[in-house]
Amino acid sequence: MKLKYPVNYIAITTYFKKGVHNGIDLGWSSAYGGSEQAIYAPADGIVTAVRKDYNQTDATGSSYGNYVKIKHANGLSTLCAHLKYGSVSVNVGDTITEGTQIGIMGRTGRANGNHLHYEVFLNDTKVNPEDYTYVYPTQIVSSNPTATEGLLYYTKEETPPTPPETVDELKRQIQFLEDKISLQTKEIEILKQELSEKENFIFEYNVEETALYEIELYKGEMLYIKEN
Ligand SMILES: [Zn+2]
Repeated sequence: MKLKYPVNYIAITTYFKKGVHNGIDLGWSSAYGGSEQAIYAPADGIVTAVRKDYNQTDATGSSYGNYVKIKHANGLSTLCAHLKYGSVSVNVGDTITEGTQIGIMGRTGRANGNHLHYEVFLNDTKVNPEDYTYVYPTQIVSSNPTATEGLLYYTKEETPPTPPETVDELKRQIQFLEDKISLQTKEIEILKQELSEKENFIFEYNVEETALYEIELYKGEMLYIKEN
């Protein structure tokens, strides 16, 4: 079963990190309906939990503020939090269909600004919503989440490499990598050669002269070889 993103303008401002941030945050943009973003049911289901009387923002609290939790098919449930005071339009026990408006994006509870905190549960375990939620053709995906408004922070673990601007730049980068590989290959060949020389090395000597030889073994230690 596919869940649909509960907003029509999709800009993930904070990603899922198990035990740290158990959902994703979705921001808004003035260009796409402003901060009054409607929040829609991600799929058909039954409302299992609701809070709608919260009218505070607690910077240091840990509260969802106003929220709606919906039980869907296949062991999935979703939770939409920080909903705007006075906007929650469903009640526990309601049967709702995908796309039903359940509230408006807000900043109730622990929120730095207007955003939707969205969680997905699989058999009561919080899972990464991105693995279960899909973008439908009518929805807009932000190409620049840093420009998203309503949040004071934006975190993503890795930044994608800057793509080369021109074909020449790309060729130059490829040449650089090829040269590097070729140098490393040469180095490996030299080391292999050294290794094979060491492995085949046999220490040989003959004592042909009937004389006394002094061979230094270790520092300060001498071996005397003499003819019988
Ligand atoms: Zn969040």
